Parts: sequence; C-alpha cells; structure tokens
Amino acid sequence: MITIEEARRLVLAEAAALQPEELAVAETLGRVLARDVVAPHAIPPFDNSAMDGFAVRAADTTGAGEKPIRLRISETVPAGHVARLELNAGEAVKIMTGAPMPRGADAVVEVESTEADGDHVLICRQVDVGTSVRFAGEDVRAGDTVLHAGDVVGPAEIGLAASMGQPVLLVHRRPRVAIVSTGSELVEIDQSIAPGQIRNSNSYSMQAQCREVGIDAERLGIAPDERGATRRLLEKGLGYDVLITSGGVSVGEFDFVKDVQDELGVERKLWQVAMKPGKPLVFGVRGGCLVFGVPGNPVAAMVSFELFVRPALLTMMGHRKVLRPTYRAIIEEDLPNRHGRVQVVRVRARRVGDRWYATSTGPQGSGILRSMVNADGLVFVPADTHGIKAGDEVEMTLLRDEAREA
Ligand code: AMP
Ligand code: MG
Repeated sequence: MITIEEARRLVLAEAAALQPEELAVAETLGRVLARDVVAPHAIPPFDNSAMDGFAVRAADTTGAGEKPIRLRISETVPAGHVARLELNAGEAVKIMTGAPMPRGADAVVEVESTEADGDHVLICRQVDVGTSVRFAGEDVRAGDTVLHAGDVVGPAEIGLAASMGQPVLLVHRRPRVAIVSTGSELVEIDQSIAPGQIRNSNSYSMQAQCREVGIDAERLGIAPDERGATRRLLEKGLGYDVLITSGGVSVGEFDFVKDVQDELGVERKLWQVAMKPGKPLVFGVRGGCLVFGVPGNPVAAMVSFELFVRPALLTMMGHRKVLRPTYRAIIEEDLPNRHGRVQVVRVRARRVGDRWYATSTGPQGSGILRSMVNADGLVFVPADTHGIKAGDEVEMTLLRDEAREA
C-alpha cells in the first residue's frame, strides 16, 4: 500500500493541461488562460473628463476660491463626442464624464463647484493642472501584458478583455468526465427500493464535486456486478478524458472493475492507498483517458475524489494551484487510529484569531455520508500513532473557502 502523497504523485504524473480552445469572452468564466493578452491600445484610449463639469485652463481658476471667476462657455461636449474648438484663455467647455478633453484644456471643475450664468459659468473653486482628468493609458498602456497564461478568468478579467476589444480568449479545454456506478444493489434515485437494494448516491455526489470545479460530468448509469454490463459501461466511459467508476474495486467475489479494466487495456498505475476511508482506490490510464476506480462506500468515494480526482481535473483545466491549502489545527477530541492507515476525519473547523480548531462531524464510518454534510475540512490522523488526543495539532485541509467564524 502506498501513501496518500505517493498516490497523488502517481496520479498527477499522468495529468496534463488539455489543449487550448478559443472561446467567446463571455463564456470563459472560471477557465484558465492559455495565452497572455497584450493590450492593443491604451485604456483609456484618450484623456477624458472624470466628472460632469467644465473643462478649463487651470491657470484661469487662480483665486476662484475667494471670488468666483466668470468664463465664457465655448461649446458642450457630451460623452462620445469630440470638442470642435481649441479652448482659449477665459473660456470653459461644458463637458460630461468620459468625454475627451478639448485641446487647450488641462483640468475639469466639477459642476457642483460652478454656477450657471447664461452663456457663461461662474467657477467657484481653484483647480490644479490635471484635476478630474483621466489620462490616456492610466489603466493600461498599449503593449502592456494585462492578462497572463495560467491566470484564472474572473469577472474583472472578462471586463478587461472586453475593454480591449478581445472577442475571444484562448483558454484550456475542460475535461469531459464520465461517471459510472457499479453494484447490483443500486437503483436510481427516482425508483423505490426493494429488500437488499439501496439508491445510487455516488454518481450524484461526484457529479456535484465535478460541478464545483466547473465541469459538467455525465452520469452514464449503473453497472450491475456482472462482467458484460460492467465492460459495456466502462468501454463507453473510456471515450472521455476522465472516467470515474465507483465500487467494485475491493476483493469481493463480485468486484469486477479491476478485471474489466485489465481486459480493456487500462494500464494500472496504483491500487490501494494507506488511508481510511478509501483504501481500495485504483487508478490507471488508457490512451488519453485517466481512469479512476473509487471505492463504493459513499464517504470513500467523495474523499477519494477530493484527494485524487479533483487535483487531476484542475491540472487538466490548466490550473497551477490544484491542492487546497492545509493548516495546522488543534483537535478538540481524542481520535483513536488503530488501522495502520492515515485516517481522514471529516471535521467542522473554526478559527479563533490565527489558530484553527477542529471537531469531528460525528460517526466516521466509510458509509456514513452524514459525516460529509456540513464538513468544513478533512483532518489527517497519522498512521504511525495510536491516534491523537484532544489538544494535539494535526494537519487539516479546508473544503470550503469561507471559514466559520468562532
Ligand atoms: P463496493 O466498493 O462496491 O464494495 O461498495 C461498498 C459499499 O458502498 C457497499 O455497501 C455498497 O452498497 C455501497 N455503494 C456502492 N456504490 C454505491 C453508490 N453508487 N451509491 C451509494 N452506495 C454505494
Ligand atoms: Mg459493489
């Protein structure tokens, strides 16, 4: 059996950023840029007024704070228009926010500091050169690299790309992911259960885990524990970039997934990780497809996804940061560990000042899905101890961005 770290290393060794695709800028939220974006022109493209008011020569306003200065309005420039005339001494141009500065003007007096006086204006405030002027290129200069390959596209990146007239961005493709659940006991969620049957939850929880990283995975259905049926669904799943099966990877008499993987030419990279839950995890590759066989126990499936599948998906999407941050946390209860494997305990986490505290979410069986509900993080109880005691420090990964405030 190998460690979690070793298993993750083996998985990530097979994952690489997928080839880029051009996508309409509005569709790129959450994608990772595959190419730098260089500004084709300055933003703003021209000097313009930051206020509704009057463009003036700053020198003409000297002393206006004590005694208003009367200037002749030579013209009006709404946003989207350009002044026709050059501004001369003793004149003002009525100007709207965003309109280009007239030639000869070097400052703007906001309308609140003026008084109307027919075809003249009374300026009641002295301004300096540059007051309320937004200068060409003050946001972006032509030729600046404003977005970088590897950046994750957020709303501001989309806005910036739009402001530079970029209709498309080159971003990494998202992996196509197939999910198959195996087990003759499984029925779909809209069916009633007969004795011995349970509902398929893994396909749904893992599809949602995919959705959390921005991937719409496909549920291909349930394969009963029978070679032919398992083979048919796995074969279909191998046509995707990633195939995730759940169940059927232990040593039970009807656990066929590994056999069928072998038959289908999946090259095994690992089987069994020294962790609880999740020990029977199997991982391999066929062609360009990463093939994960996570154990069927609902918590084992989700934890395996979290620790191994998620970083692989993020890598394929081009992300550089694929692991969640880890913290040192003080555990608030005794957690025995007699398994000889790292125990992955689901916890509620809270921060007090700069210290983290963690408490388990309750019974921690591999099948107890409620232990994942409301879990903020995972705590790793080392294998080489008999467990940890309340007050000990442990390693913790947060599953949410937002910490619960104590
Ligand atoms: P297995 O890994 O196939 O031995 O399954 C381990 C346990 O997980 C069994 O109790 C299964 O009934 C349960 N299980 C397997 N697949 C699923 C699933 N898709 N949804 C919910 N429970 C499952
Ligand atoms: Mg099974």
